[in-house]
Amino acid sequence: MEYAGARALLLKEFVEGLLLGLVYFFRPKSTLNYPFEKGMLSPRFRGEHALRRYPNGEERCIACKLCEAICPALAITIEAGVAKDGTRRASRYDIDMHKCIYCGFCQEACPVDAIVEGPNFEFSTETREELYYDKEKLLANGDRWEKEIAKNLMLDAPYR
Ligand code: SF4
Ligand code: SF4
Repeated sequence: MEYAGARALLLKEFVEGLLLGLVYFFRPKSTLNYPFEKGMLSPRFRGEHALRRYPNGEERCIACKLCEAICPALAITIEAGVAKDGTRRASRYDIDMHKCIYCGFCQEACPVDAIVEGPNFEFSTETREELYYDKEKLLANGDRWEKEIAKNLMLDAPYR
């Protein structure tokens, strides 16, 4: 009883709590101030899809439809066409992002590294329609994220 009284008098719990707070104040933070701070992502992170171009601006996709065939969610729709230079190209490339399960099979199947899952994970929308991606949207994603995508593919290359 006396011991409890001394503890109360000396504010033992209060002082212990204060010291603990001070210790954690000087330790590295284990939380992030998202969205202003972002954590590290693996080069293999499978985020929003993108269609890539070659450095000269030419579309990589040759409309071979391997990605469409392998997609377990049947999320990809491709129509093949002929470009002005006579080469085979996709005249339509749609991904229904509602169906996608982010398995990465499309990326693995692509022989020319055209369709990839990039590092972007911040693509939530307010309407369902915005998640029906067409070729223009996917190419724009590729243009926007090419630097990061190319770096991630390079880092992952030794393990493939
Ligand atoms: S990540 Fe998987 S489910 Fe999504 S489009 Fe590619 S193959 Fe289909
Ligand atoms: S993205 Fe790749 S796998 Fe898919 S159709 Fe184009 S070239 Fe073929």
